[in-house]
Amino acid sequence: MLFSFHLPTKIFFGNFSLKTYGEELQRFGKKALIVSGKSSAVKSGALDELKEVLEKNGQTYLLFDEVEPNPSLLTVENGRLAADDCDFVIGVGGGSPLDAAKAIAVLATNELKTEELYTKKYTNPPLPIVALPLTAGTGSEVTPYAVLTYDEEETKKAFQSEDIFPKLAFLDPRYTYSLPYRVTLDTALDTLSHAIESYISTRANPLSDLAALKAMELIGKNYDYLRNGDFTPNVREDLLFASLLGGIAIAQTSTALIHTLGYNLTYYKNVPHGRANGLFLADYLKMAYPENKIRVENVLNTLNIAFLDEIELWFEPLLLWEEKVSKEEIIKWAEKSANNTKAKNNTPFTFSAVELEKILQERLL
Ligand code: NAP
Ligand code: ZN
Repeated sequence: MLFSFHLPTKIFFGNFSLKTYGEELQRFGKKALIVSGKSSAVKSGALDELKEVLEKNGQTYLLFDEVEPNPSLLTVENGRLAADDCDFVIGVGGGSPLDAAKAIAVLATNELKTEELYTKKYTNPPLPIVALPLTAGTGSEVTPYAVLTYDEEETKKAFQSEDIFPKLAFLDPRYTYSLPYRVTLDTALDTLSHAIESYISTRANPLSDLAALKAMELIGKNYDYLRNGDFTPNVREDLLFASLLGGIAIAQTSTALIHTLGYNLTYYKNVPHGRANGLFLADYLKMAYPENKIRVENVLNTLNIAFLDEIELWFEPLLLWEEKVSKEEIIKWAEKSANNTKAKNNTPFTFSAVELEKILQERLL
C-alpha cells in the first residue's frame, strides 16, 4: 500500500460552530474581505452571524457580494480590486462564492492576469482563506480547487494549488435550512458525483475511499427525504456532512469523466452544476462495471440499490430528465469530453467520442 493524504484545513462542524469558535479568525489580521453571492449569505443568516463574530473580535470587513453562480474571470478581477487593503478572505456561499474567494485571495497578492491563474506559477502566498459553505454539495471548503468559467476554452475550468485550501472551514447545517428544494437536490447530486467519481477513479486511495463510501451511505440513507423534500435538521446535517466527505475525497483524487461531461451542460445551457453531473451518474456506473465490478457493486450496496439495471430508476425522481439539446451540440460535446486529459487520466475505463455521443443522445435528445 502506498498513498498520500493531504488536508490542511481546520474544520469546525455543527450548529453554531462559527459562533463557538469565531475567535479562530483573529489570527488572520485586522480586515476581512467577505466574498458572497447576491442573497444567500443574508437569507441563510450566515452573514449576520459572521459580522457579529468579526465585531466581537475587533476586526473590520468589506463585503463583496457580486459573485454569480459559476463565477467569471471578470467577477474575480472585481473581487481583487475590492480586496485592496484586506488581510484575509472569507468565502460565504455555495461553491461559487467559495471558489471566487480562493481566486481573489491569489490575485490580491500576485500581479497576475486572471487567465494566468491557470498557467502561471505565482510567487506570493495568497491571502488566508476561510470558508463558510451555505450549500451541501461542492465540498469546496476542503479542496485545493477553484472552478471558474473559462470562455477561452468554452468550459468551466479548475485551477489547483495547495495554498488555496482554506485555512479554516465552518460548517453549520442551520445555514442550509434556507436552500430551496431544487438547489438541495442538485447539490446533493454533486456530493454523490464526488463520492462516486472519487471511489471509482484511477486515483482512489484507502482514505479517500473511506470518505467517499461514508458520503454515499449518507445520501443513500436520506434518499426518501431527498425525493419528498422533508428536510429536517437531522437530514440537513447528514447532507452537509456528506458534502464535506465528498470534498475530502476529491481533494485527494480530483474528479473524472462525469464532471467533464457536466461542464458542457453548465457552460452552454446553464444547467446547475450538481444536476449536470447527476445526469451522467447512472451511465458512469454502467460504463465502469465491466472493469470495476467490485467497486460498482459496493456503490450499489451502499446506496441500497439491488441491481445495476435499477440504477436509472433510482435516479429518476432526483433528476426528472428534462434537458433537450441538439444533435450538433452532442457531437461537439462528446468529441471535446473524449479528448479531455483529466477525464482520461482519472477515469478507470476507456471511452471514445462515439460512446459518449450515445450516452449524451440517450440523456439529452
Ligand atoms: P452556487 O452556484 O454557489 O449557488 C447556487 C444558487 O443557490 C445561488 O442562486 C445561490 O444564491 C443559492 N444559495 C446558495 N446557498 C443558499 C442558501 N443557504 N439559501 C438559499 N439560497 C442559497 O451553487 P453550488 O452548487 O454550491 O456551487 C457550484 C459551483 O461550485 C460551480 O461553479 C462548481 O463548478 C463549483 N464546484 C467547486 C468545487 C471545488 O472543489 N472547488 C467542487 C464542486 C463544485 P446566491 O447567488 O445569492 O449565493
Ligand atoms: Zn462537483
